[in-house]
Amino acid sequence: MMKKELTCIVCPIGCQLTIAEKAAGAYDVTGHTCKRGPQYAINEMTNPTRVIPTTVVIKNAMLPRLPVKTAEPIPKGQIFDAMAIINQVVVEAPIKTGDVVVKDLLGLGIDVVATRTMDKN
Ligand code: SF4
Repeated sequence: MMKKELTCIVCPIGCQLTIAEKAAGAYDVTGHTCKRGPQYAINEMTNPTRVIPTTVVIKNAMLPRLPVKTAEPIPKGQIFDAMAIINQVVVEAPIKTGDVVVKDLLGLGIDVVATRTMDKN
């Protein structure tokens, strides 16, 4: 039986979870304080995902780089490919928080969005 211990990162409480596979595709999760814990643990076992917080080049702004993030978590296994695309992005001020800087990243249906407003310099 496969068993794994992990820290839930859904909220700052950080419950220590234990997940065990009882049968193919059936999991037993303990250590959670709320129902989001088991869902997080099962996702980590089956399809771990992460939000990518990073920056892209911005022109004509007071700073050289604009903070951005994926609007939703993407599969961990695709982070390297995602960064290869994000690293090529150059945007131009003005940009508002929430503006899309990459549409449909890797065909995942998930955008990369600005997390800060930057006016034109
Ligand atoms: S199980 Fe619930 S309370 Fe515990 S860290 Fe996860 S989200 Fe927070």
